[in-house]
Amino acid sequence: MEKTIYLDYAATTPVDERVLQAMLPYFSHTFGNPSSIHQYGQKAENAIEAARETVAGVLKCRPDEIIFTSCGSESDNLALRGASLAMRAKKNANWILTSQAEHHAVSRTAGQMAELFGFEVEWLPVDEYGMVLPQTIAQAICHQTAIVSVMLANNEIGTINPISKISEICHEQGVLLHTDAVQAAAYLPVNVDALGVDLLSLGGHKFYGPKGVGALYVRKGTPLVPVQTGGGQEVGLRAGTQNVPYIVGFAEALRLTDLERKARAAQVKPMRDRIIGSVLENIPDAKLTGHPIERLPNHCSFVFKGVDGNFLLTLLDSAGFACSSGSACKTGNPEPSEVMRLMQLPLEWGLGSLRVTLGTASTAVDVEKFLARLPGLVEKARKLQ
Ligand SMILES: *Cc1c(COP(=O)(O)O)cnc(C)c1O
Repeated sequence: MEKTIYLDYAATTPVDERVLQAMLPYFSHTFGNPSSIHQYGQKAENAIEAARETVAGVLKCRPDEIIFTSCGSESDNLALRGASLAMRAKKNANWILTSQAEHHAVSRTAGQMAELFGFEVEWLPVDEYGMVLPQTIAQAICHQTAIVSVMLANNEIGTINPISKISEICHEQGVLLHTDAVQAAAYLPVNVDALGVDLLSLGGHKFYGPKGVGALYVRKGTPLVPVQTGGGQEVGLRAGTQNVPYIVGFAEALRLTDLERKARAAQVKPMRDRIIGSVLENIPDAKLTGHPIERLPNHCSFVFKGVDGNFLLTLLDSAGFACSSGSACKTGNPEPSEVMRLMQLPLEWGLGSLRVTLGTASTAVDVEKFLARLPGLVEKARKLQ
């Protein structure tokens, strides 16, 4: 049997061999608790502080502005919950502005802040490509806004948001801006000053680092209360003994990503364009979702009329291709995702989504194999429905 071709790099990436090698000594050789006073502790602490400097070097910020967390979702939670609670305490601001197309780690956190903690949420509309337009922010923002949260790039449809333009509006009003850069960081620069953000979330496993580790950039002076309380780790903003090997791996993966970002984008972009062109040309009733130009260089997403996306995924899997519907929906729930609903598609289109995302092991040969099979499988999915 032929090996399954992996086309789901937006869901997760394998750990880079160089990253793994950097991590290994910190499991059982240099194993100390970074908070301990003795040599063992100092060595572990040195490893974390070196990792923090590496991450700060990529983000072009100060090392003490980096908080290590357990994942991208936790970074989003800390940013939204921590900053909105702090801004309410500081100036009685009780509005959270966030887009309708955010990852659940942001949208469900905002939803809970409204339901249980007395905040108001304004769900900012997006355009037909899922993009948040700066004027939308300008219309909604006011002195009672605690925080604005808009993702840098969308995981389902690949659209890149104009964060630096949005940041100008936020800063004119003196309002904090958070961006979820978890999906974007593999391909877009995450220079926090160029983006103009106060808070930025990252997750290691989207750029060839390990799962279960993330980081939050917190601009110096940003009001933030910890979500996880306890010991004083991470300048008191995230209690818990740090996961030293994973933090080392996170930093090494981000460093390599930054070094190789342009080359990686140049590798995948022609394959992305080949897939998009071929699908739109050869499959009837197919549409691209997300922005045609302002999109991640490894990201293709489509809808097919009259297709059950989950059924298509199982057909693809049997044929040896690992793709996604874009919504990470495994529940068998035949509902279009929130993001698909925003695309304003007619009912017969909304369930037929397919996300194809490329990465370092993707080859033109694999892409051609995929393109040779996809039209037939879409036809089959239409007939068997
Ligand atoms: C993957 C992802 C997350 C969640 O990150 P985890 O590290 O898996 O918790 C959040 N936001 C976006 C945009 C993502 O793509």
